Amino acid sequence: MTQPFEFPHSLQRRTLLQAAAATGLASTLGVALAHTGGATALMPKGRQRRVVVLGGGWGGLSTARYLRETAPDLEVVLIERNPVFWSCPLSNKWLVDVVDTQFLVHSYTIPARKWGYTFVQSEVSDIDRSAKRVHTAQGYVDYDWLVVSAGIRVTYEPWFAGDQRAIRHTVTNYASAYVPSAEHLALKHKIQSFKGGTIVMTLPPPPHRCPPSPYERACLMAAHFQRNKIKAKILILDPKPRIAPIGAGYKLAFEDLYDDIITHVPNAGVKELDPFNKVVKTAAGDFKFDDAIFMGHHQAPDLVWKLGAVGKNAEGKPTNWAAVHNEFYNLADDPNIFVIGDSVGAVSPQFGHYPKSGHVAHAMGRSVANYIAQQAKDQPMKAMMIDNLCYMLVNLNPLEAISVQFDYKKGPEGHLIQTQIDDNDRRRALWDEDLRWYSLKMQDMVGV
Ligand SMILES: Cc1cc2nc3c(=O)[nH]c(=O)nc-3n(C[C@H](O)[C@H](O)[C@H](O)COP(=O)(O)OP(=O)(O)OC[C@H]3O[C@@H](n4cnc5c(N)ncnc54)[C@H](O)[C@@H]3O)c2cc1C
Repeated sequence: MTQPFEFPHSLQRRTLLQAAAATGLASTLGVALAHTGGATALMPKGRQRRVVVLGGGWGGLSTARYLRETAPDLEVVLIERNPVFWSCPLSNKWLVDVVDTQFLVHSYTIPARKWGYTFVQSEVSDIDRSAKRVHTAQGYVDYDWLVVSAGIRVTYEPWFAGDQRAIRHTVTNYASAYVPSAEHLALKHKIQSFKGGTIVMTLPPPPHRCPPSPYERACLMAAHFQRNKIKAKILILDPKPRIAPIGAGYKLAFEDLYDDIITHVPNAGVKELDPFNKVVKTAAGDFKFDDAIFMGHHQAPDLVWKLGAVGKNAEGKPTNWAAVHNEFYNLADDPNIFVIGDSVGAVSPQFGHYPKSGHVAHAMGRSVANYIAQQAKDQPMKAMMIDNLCYMLVNLNPLEAISVQFDYKKGPEGHLIQTQIDDNDRRRALWDEDLRWYSLKMQDMVGV
């Protein structure tokens, strides 16, 4: 359902585009096709200046929606590979049927119609910064401003180098469902058809997407196995020395509720993985498993690499994340290009990366909509502070959650400073707050 759109192999791309133009399919899709010197302009530019937003996740949807308010004179085009929006927030709860699919999956055309931007479903294949042009599977789109909110990519290269057989076997059997994709369906099937035994769950080395969510997933899987009387052990192999964030709240949940099911193993970074013989070797020992959820390393997605926006460390090696201004999220050598959301690299010597969360991506999108509106009016950009808030469900009977909040301000030396407040006291009220938080964000981004 959420697989990237691909042209049928039997059809050449050009043939399909010509057929689409001839049959009027192009206008049904709400896009215009034009040919210029061999390349196909998907949407020729008119007199209006245009913002192109790449990625229709939390950051991209928020940017597109707020741009229509902050800069109504600009044309806004959102390009996303998936046919429908799929939310990772709340997906752990969906894995064990606390919420159903309609909570997670939403139409892209409803918000596009509601706020008046153009949605294009297509894979973005390249970005030509000198021509200010984005290439998609259906043709190119020119921009005046570009916002990239393409999330993360999950890589298994550090474990397997180029061994595609091992990588494919791992993706097919042990995928983590950490990007909006069909992996969520496979994981739900795995959990709900599990007959018993040991499941290992590896956490990626930090920084990674939504740090508290793997522990939440372990709690909810354990609760599901308890409810269905399935004899299971869950081993969390954590490269970090301790559970974080909301460490105390999770520790209590593991001890009080799932003592016989969940074991958290600290300092257990993966050294070697044999997915065929089901053995994982870590810095904290070797573990055999019956089934597994292997979270590969998280990095900025392909589009950020293609943009040439990945930062370099002191040794000149890639940081694997986008190097952007710490408050405006634009590139030093091109202030009209913004990278937001999970792709963003370290922004502060005090805390490094912002938490890679939907809440933060949404807030960055809103901020960038303001910054672009200010640039369009030749006004100086006025920095907006963001925050973060995450609720994690740890108990099913009764429904109880814990939460973490992060606030940011400028320190005396001009650096961003982070304050973290863990709420470790699991209770029903936090689950109710989570649902409220989520429904407000959905209204804001997908219009329902
Ligand atoms: C299990 C789980 C639970 C979570 N729980 C929470 C939570 O409770 N609260 C919270 O705030 N956050 C949570 N998160 C984190 C949240 O999902 C991410 O931080 C958020 O989605 C980041 O937004 P983004 O816009 O950077 O990326 P995404 O939302 O991933 O959006 C990126 C989009 O770009 C598209 N894309 C990428 N490349 C291309 C291309 N080449 N062409 C076209 N389209 C492309 C992708 O298809 C995707 O739709 C959770 C994550 C997970 C995995």
